[in-house]
Amino acid sequence: MITRDLLRSIRNELPMKLTIVRLGRHGPITKQTDGYFRFQCPGCGELRATVNPRNNLAHCFSCGQNYNNIDLLMIQGYDFVPAVEILQHWLRQYQEDRDSANS
Ligand SMILES: [Zn+2]
Repeated sequence: MITRDLLRSIRNELPMKLTIVRLGRHGPITKQTDGYFRFQCPGCGELRATVNPRNNLAHCFSCGQNYNNIDLLMIQGYDFVPAVEILQHWLRQYQEDRDSANS
């Protein structure tokens, strides 16, 4: 079941960098500059989509488009429900890795 809480944690808690790493060669080109994680904007093609570390959402400083994790998968051709299921799986793995690192 897709709840509002699940969507919020997928958008805000699964680091967007991890999502893009998982997309591998299907994902956009990335770079890390000035402490910010940036990637190639699927809209305009500029390497100016920048992840805001406070909310884990990306904003392109070239064309103004905003992206979250779900958007990134849907751009790859996934429908909404499969995209959420994949991200939920990645989020669970991320949380497990984080929890075992802390214990
Ligand atoms: Zn753009």
